[in-house]
Amino acid sequence: MKSSNLQESATVAIHNLAQEKMKLAQKVYNFSAGDPCIKNHDLVIERVMKLVELGYSPYAPVAGLKQLRDLASSWLNQTCKSNFSVENVVVTSGGKFALYLLLCALLRPKDEVLLLAPYWVSYPAMVELAGGVAKIVHAKKGLKVGVEEIAKAISATSKILIINSANNPTGEIYSQEELEAILELAHQHQLHVISDEVYSGLAYEKDHPFISCASFPKYREQVSIVQSCSKNFALSGWRIGLAVAPVKLVTKICSLQGQTITAASLASQEAAIAALENYAEVNLYVKREMQKRRDLFIQEFNLHFNAGIRAPKSALYAFIPQSAFGTPQSINGVAFCSKLLQDYNAAVVPGCAFGVQDYVRLSFACPESDIVDGLKAIKRATQEIWQLEKSLQVIKG
Ligand code: PLP
Repeated sequence: MKSSNLQESATVAIHNLAQEKMKLAQKVYNFSAGDPCIKNHDLVIERVMKLVELGYSPYAPVAGLKQLRDLASSWLNQTCKSNFSVENVVVTSGGKFALYLLLCALLRPKDEVLLLAPYWVSYPAMVELAGGVAKIVHAKKGLKVGVEEIAKAISATSKILIINSANNPTGEIYSQEELEAILELAHQHQLHVISDEVYSGLAYEKDHPFISCASFPKYREQVSIVQSCSKNFALSGWRIGLAVAPVKLVTKICSLQGQTITAASLASQEAAIAALENYAEVNLYVKREMQKRRDLFIQEFNLHFNAGIRAPKSALYAFIPQSAFGTPQSINGVAFCSKLLQDYNAAVVPGCAFGVQDYVRLSFACPESDIVDGLKAIKRATQEIWQLEKSLQVIKG
């Protein structure tokens, strides 16, 4: 794909527009960004301050600091029942770059990558940038694609399957049995599976635990994991992610990283070391806060819209049918979301950015006061949209 054809990420575009409004001193309710808006844990700040005091900042090794790679493999082995060693881990600049490096390392021109809708907004563009072809697979019913639909979509040129559980935007989680069936199918068709697990530590329900694709020994050689410190440890701005892959693939990824960005930032790796040395404590600090915001969001949403929306099982988002907002059928998702931002300063993302029409994604990672006031603003918006619709019908009428 020529980079001149590349479109800005829909979520980033909306987030930027919201930022522009904020610069003009307008109050914006930013439901668009999946950014856990929470102070860095003290342990992270203390560690980074020590590095600053040292006053010494060389390049980090291409694959990342050995201490961080060691910590990352033990963290995954303990929380995901995997069996990685330091050689499997590359530290990258965010999970996003880990994903891109994996695609570049694995794809030949025109290879097909299966994406399960709703998918994370950046997958299609990344696949195309890496020279592949994105093939979107839709669920037969509901918002969770099953093994039968994936089986039907596989063709002779299919090379990679991307799985994202816990899911952005739905918060859905694949069970042990569902994952096993999908991995077996991928194995039979020699597909490499990239499992995007950046929300692994934000599964809120005991009955729906997060299961990692790395926990199935049989499929170890055909699975790569994308991880990140952005969500699980609320370190989004530090930009630390992980590509965790079979050793042969790690060698390729390191060549690509070495020839592009050299290595992830040293100071950021120190921040990640502090988080991973204390992963249970730092993750719990984030998870508790995000769960509180999720519960508040659902309570307030159902209060205003009487919609009976269920709490998402994981991640940072509610993916809500547009019908639940009670808007007139004549207004489509993009128009609704544009109106909310332009006229009511509430930033939300239309479902089409994730490959599904008639849904709206709202992030509940923003501060609690924004959740309360922002949902009031959205309620007011839907009432005024109805009034406008009725007066238009009278005029037409
Ligand atoms: N994967 C998914 C599903 C995401 O939602 C995100 C960020 O929103 C990423 C990967 C990338 O995260 P980061 O680059 O901040 O690590």
